[in-house]
Amino acid sequence: MTLPFHVNDPRDVIEADRAHVWHHMVQHKPFETVDPRIITEGRGIRVWDISGREYIDAVSGGVWTVNVGYGRESIADAVRDQLVKLNFFSSSTGSIPAAQFAEKLIARMPGMSRVFYASSGSEANENAYKMIRQIAEKRHGGRKHKILYRARDYHGTTLGALSSCGQEERKAQYGPFAPGFVEVPHCNEYHAAEQGWGALSGEAYGRRAADAIEEVILREGPETVGGLVLEPVTAGGGVITPPPGYWPRVQEICRKYDVLLHIDEVVCGLGRTGEWFGYQHYGIEPDFVTMAKGVASGYAAISVCVTTERVFEMFKDDATDPLNYYRSISTFAGCTAGPAAALENMRIIEDEGLLENCRARGAQLMAGLERLKERHACVGDVRGLGLFCGAELVTDRASRSPLPELQVQAVVADCMANGVIIGATNRSLPGRNNTLCLSPALIVTADEIDRIVDTIDAALARVLSS
Ligand code: PLP
Repeated sequence: MTLPFHVNDPRDVIEADRAHVWHHMVQHKPFETVDPRIITEGRGIRVWDISGREYIDAVSGGVWTVNVGYGRESIADAVRDQLVKLNFFSSSTGSIPAAQFAEKLIARMPGMSRVFYASSGSEANENAYKMIRQIAEKRHGGRKHKILYRARDYHGTTLGALSSCGQEERKAQYGPFAPGFVEVPHCNEYHAAEQGWGALSGEAYGRRAADAIEEVILREGPETVGGLVLEPVTAGGGVITPPPGYWPRVQEICRKYDVLLHIDEVVCGLGRTGEWFGYQHYGIEPDFVTMAKGVASGYAAISVCVTTERVFEMFKDDATDPLNYYRSISTFAGCTAGPAAALENMRIIEDEGLLENCRARGAQLMAGLERLKERHACVGDVRGLGLFCGAELVTDRASRSPLPELQVQAVVADCMANGVIIGATNRSLPGRNNTLCLSPALIVTADEIDRIVDTIDAALARVLSS
């Protein structure tokens, strides 16, 4: 491996990082005695650190992002060509890649029509919330302003988005939060017994969990509830797939009470689950779809809030109101690198058949995780959709009590020491960060899936026997 030309001595970089970089979601105390890990290069699904060690990246850049893999020269070329031609102009004005990507995206989203650009998933969600609030103001005199979110779901880090977050550990110490966000119970069949609804499973549980949303709407007053935001598959809250019966009932409830349905596809969006979007597995007709990570696979910062023509129309129906348009701007949504990268990213997914590969390799990964469940008593539940998979670790299967976080992290560290980067739900719910996360790039091969599963197998054996 060759180091980038500007690095004379890897120690300089490590010390500069240790001295000056504040890493996200990281407790820095250990860095006083342990070197921070610096990743320097990536090719396909492999990355190398500054010491030259090679890893299989089974989490697409750590946070479900690099869907088409590392080192894509065609994306770099597309971005370079676009930046030289026109790098930026305010997104109050049009650009060629923004128009072309919007058209291409909407062609994959029947029923949707308009794309509002920003730079991060949090911002995309905030845009949907602001649109819902403005509709409440314009159509319902401000009454229908509440936005429901689900326990265990995550929607972003900015204060508005965090106000809609169902993860205590993310929120602790950052309050007070924005008013008008109300939590609904989670839908997590594996822990159904904790919800006091009796011994329900499958479709009956799915319908019951959705009914719980209706109960909150009725408690709050339907005339006050304007929106509901949900992840199609809960990501950081535990890789939780919904049981049958959940989504049809959710849709029914939203229609009944005139609640706008906002699907947060920041993780699922663009291929991760084996369909273009997670919601497309469930026949949902959303009012808003937000996405970010996989939109350009991390080659540029881009997010979008996509909505219907019906919603768009609500913002231009009263020419006498000077405030009758959506008043939001995000400077870097005008950077053309985002849509240029996104266009090429989408072409790659289509031309290389990556949705098909995602489905096939996802099935293989799930089968591998099921085998681990047979071999290790600590694997309580395995869940997944496409290449978006998780294995929940428990102390014993009867109680389903979470394996202590230190042991979960020891499994992650053991895999890392053996050349495979996996993830675990991280700092989301106190005592509940016990699900291993697997989400390799959609180009992963059968051999690589075997290597990932075998490495976890050995790690579980080592950690749980020690
Ligand atoms: N929504 C979901 C489901 C996420 O997982 C995340 C980030 O992990 C976000 C929103 C926020 O995205 P960003 O970090 O780009 O602001």
